[in-house]
Amino acid sequence: MKNELAVIPKPVSVKYAEGTFRSKGLPPFKGDDAFRGVIETASYQMKDKIDNSLPSVSCEKIDGLEPEAYNLEIKKDRITAQASSPAGMYHALQTIRQLSLSHFEDGELVLPCAKINDYPRFSWRGLMLDCSRYYYSVPFIKNLIDVISMHHINKFHWHLTDDQGWRLPVPEYPLLTEVGSVRKDNRRRRVFGGIYSDDEIKEVIDYAASRHIETIPEVDLPGHACAILTSYPSLGCTGGKYHVEDRFGIFKDVLCAGNDQIFDLAEKVFETLARLFPSKYVHIGGDEVPPTRWKACPKCKKRLEELGLKKPAELQSWITVKLVQMLSKHGKTAIGWDEILEDTPGYQLPNDAVVMSWRGSKGGKKASKRGHNVIMTPNTEGCYLDYKHLDHPEEPGQMYAGASTVYISYSMDPAPSSIKKEDASHILGGQGNLWSELIYAGKFAEYMIFPRLCAIAEAVWTPRKNKDFEDFSQRLIVHRQRLDCLGVQQYRGVLR
Ligand SMILES: [Zn+2]
Repeated sequence: MKNELAVIPKPVSVKYAEGTFRSKGLPPFKGDDAFRGVIETASYQMKDKIDNSLPSVSCEKIDGLEPEAYNLEIKKDRITAQASSPAGMYHALQTIRQLSLSHFEDGELVLPCAKINDYPRFSWRGLMLDCSRYYYSVPFIKNLIDVISMHHINKFHWHLTDDQGWRLPVPEYPLLTEVGSVRKDNRRRRVFGGIYSDDEIKEVIDYAASRHIETIPEVDLPGHACAILTSYPSLGCTGGKYHVEDRFGIFKDVLCAGNDQIFDLAEKVFETLARLFPSKYVHIGGDEVPPTRWKACPKCKKRLEELGLKKPAELQSWITVKLVQMLSKHGKTAIGWDEILEDTPGYQLPNDAVVMSWRGSKGGKKASKRGHNVIMTPNTEGCYLDYKHLDHPEEPGQMYAGASTVYISYSMDPAPSSIKKEDASHILGGQGNLWSELIYAGKFAEYMIFPRLCAIAEAVWTPRKNKDFEDFSQRLIVHRQRLDCLGVQQYRGVLR
């Protein structure tokens, strides 16, 4: 393994050549003006290693490569990186960053001569962080984004609202954050809260963008709404009394489907998101919405009659369609958890809505057949990073769908060969999700995320034919040193 580059995710093609590149430090990066931004970011990331007196790594702009593709050539006397766009060049420089963290021997950078051609299998390679159940600080989030970008992850899905706290300031609804961001933490007998200001949100978005990561916000509607209802009780079916939840689970109190004011709130939330987030996507949640209150609520019953629907649960499709349409007026495409697919004739899920498959991959497969774009994040296939690494009493985490070993995460295939080609074309990619019911500290979050996210990164980047778990395990031995150099916590137990 010593002469290997041991890059994760594994590149599409690595051809080793005779000879070795040796240098007393990491050469600086110089190149085409189009790459000024990425060169600046990468130079900052590797500032401790770079020796400006050395002949530089040449960053060349060439035509004919896909936007995220790159070539990297390591010769005895120089290193050349090529890409057609800043995203591709960023990936090239992150591959060099990995080598800069693992291939120094006694103060000398030693690399085998090689030619790498690389590009992603999927365009959506993400991580979701639940910042409602636990409020992760902005410096933590930025550092995490920086580390995942080294693995060519390109989407940060920011879960901003849930029963346990609303973290997004909405000017027209100040109580969402004044009241809805705060809960009584009964286990530790303290008050728990936190919001992200407009400036902090922009700071995270810009920081991620400089690392070629797109930030996608999620506001969960119409369920997981205890924080909303505590702030504005008239939006619920019973009027309360509500409280921001400290327990976990699925709660009966959801937004009242018979109250038009829920759409006034949604509109102002969407206006806020459109103002702050440049991404074309907004995640609207849509998961785990029990119709219990809708069944008993006079306003909801009236709505049901007016719409000619039969079952209270069908009100969710009507709400979802409205939310998706409202977002399109803002030029945004809605993403929802796979429950949004359980629609009703007359209120079918609009074609452009993207389905995020979490209850296994079944929902995603069905959605792709129906022509929806899909993001795979099956909890049964290693994408739920809050699950235990191992079924062992000493391991932290949930066990809802069993343990998620690194091997299970690695084996995840967003578009297995069993899916028809035309359906597979709708599968944008996949991601890991960290729910934070139990994960009460950034360092703890890292332990749950790594190295499973390294495995997921390979599952969404590397061609299926190049995947090999034994080979990955060997490269991971080297890669763990890189994570250690970056001060990232990681699980170190058995992998399968
Ligand atoms: Zn109601």
